[in-house]
Amino acid sequence: MNIIMLGAPGAGKGTQAAVLCEHFGIPTISTGNMIREALKNGTEMGLKAKSFMDEGKLVPDEVVIGIVKERLAEDDCKKGFILDGFPRTIPQAEALDAMGVEIQYVINIDVSDERIINRMSGRRVCENCGRPYHLVNLKPSKEGICDDCGGTLVQRKDDHPDTVLARLDVYHKETEPLADYYDKQGKLINVEGQDEVDTTTDLILKEIEA
Ligand code: AMP
Repeated sequence: MNIIMLGAPGAGKGTQAAVLCEHFGIPTISTGNMIREALKNGTEMGLKAKSFMDEGKLVPDEVVIGIVKERLAEDDCKKGFILDGFPRTIPQAEALDAMGVEIQYVINIDVSDERIINRMSGRRVCENCGRPYHLVNLKPSKEGICDDCGGTLVQRKDDHPDTVLARLDVYHKETEPLADYYDKQGKLINVEGQDEVDTTTDLILKEIEA
């Protein structure tokens, strides 16, 4: 099963992708995590992406399309995958279609801008493995420490309030039109993002397994 997670930054795509990844036993491919990893490792691509990312802008299409193409060619993607944060523009979606990748479900998690801005202030990620947490909605067992790998939980630079507004603006202009794109292909599932992670997951699974 090949799934795309759509939604504004902070709508809960990454969290739901992690849950579905475990549920279906298929990998999550997060372009944001791959770019952050490249940046941590000081690769040329990572350094090129940094300024875009820090300002809340999108990294150029050709860069992201290239990394997704390479990643999808790996063996673990043969049984299916969840794309988290890709595609984010119409040209990226067209490139995915041109790769001959069959997508079954596009899950669009809908959350108002106001709720996103409130939520983002509590968002934390593991600086080691990238697993997302939230100070109120999704706490780790031990404060400030990742349940999976023991890494330290930090606030992403692009989760700071000014950058969040810029990212929401980019989302409305560039990414939101993808809902229509996939609706026309009959693949779109709209789910209203809830504050409780499990409630959103139940809504998604009900639609997929219906
Ligand atoms: P995310 O963790 O998915 O919110 O991504 C963080 C940042 O990485 C974004 O704000 C962009 O700068 C960049 N990025 C991630 N995925 C993409 C994509 N598909 N297209 C362009 N830029 C991306």
